[in-house]
Amino acid sequence: MVINCTCGKDLDLSKNINGIIECDNCHNIYLQIEEILLKIEINNSNFTFVIKSCFGSPTYIKIPSTIIYNNKTYYLDKIDEDAFYDCTDLKNVEIPNCVNDVDVCAFVGCLSLQYSTYDNINYLGNSNNLYLIAWRPTSRKIKSCVIHKNTKIIEDYTFYECRSLKNIEIPDSVIKIGRKTFESCTSLENIEIPKGIASIGDSAFEDCSNLKSVTISNNVTSIGVLCFALCNSLKEVIFEKDSKLKIIKNRAFSCCFSLESIVIPASVVSIERGTFDFCGNLVIYLERNDLPSGFEKLWNRSNRPIYFKNQWHYDENGKPVVNK
Ligand SMILES: [Zn+2]
Repeated sequence: MVINCTCGKDLDLSKNINGIIECDNCHNIYLQIEEILLKIEINNSNFTFVIKSCFGSPTYIKIPSTIIYNNKTYYLDKIDEDAFYDCTDLKNVEIPNCVNDVDVCAFVGCLSLQYSTYDNINYLGNSNNLYLIAWRPTSRKIKSCVIHKNTKIIEDYTFYECRSLKNIEIPDSVIKIGRKTFESCTSLENIEIPKGIASIGDSAFEDCSNLKSVTISNNVTSIGVLCFALCNSLKEVIFEKDSKLKIIKNRAFSCCFSLESIVIPASVVSIERGTFDFCGNLVIYLERNDLPSGFEKLWNRSNRPIYFKNQWHYDENGKPVVNK
């Protein structure tokens, strides 16, 4: 069998069944799995690969966790946007546990794709772990949800505009809360970011207008752009002791009109611009006595009051108060 590379050159598929084919004209790399050809991109800095597109009309595909290219092993990192665009016959896809991201548009037009369902959520995964990736709710009207204990990723947009969602339980197995995952979940009242999470995606909780309290585990290192923006009922942001938080990104807490105090952990070395824009009631307490150089010039451009560690203490209720 011969197919055309995206550059127009013929690729002879009979040479390397179930292996890597590299176009000798444009150096595109393809992974051949029987009748199916996946265009992939490899990343030599961390030895991972990304699936970019699919040729053929598979009904089933088992995506490998590793490939060998030039005698080196590469691990699957991501299934990219439009990777399986309009694979209308695709019924079952096995995604290995090592995957770090599946783009929200990876399976656009895959109308036959089957999911595993658990407590109001459709999942993608593999035969050993059906619940690897929380993909979409069975309805936008769900009121509560317990994420499966084997889930690793809650993908971008999973609960977007689930306006009735009041209760969500996220197990420690989850390492990633994607972009806009809970945006406009306007009934959500509190959230505990579990132990497994290292980064909270951009706009993950934007416009959760009823969110009153958030507890952020000490393993979180990064809070995304606009992450809690427009959470205008948010009263309390609790960082667990021994926080490893490093960076709070652009406008992460902007328009949190009800937020009266926040204690920035000593570990934070970078705060991007406008993080507390329009937080008109906020007092900022730092667990340090200096401003690290990674705090951008406009990080506090709404000029909220700032107190350094030697200027405040906790009262008997555990609330920060300024020293007399
Ligand atoms: Zn080519």
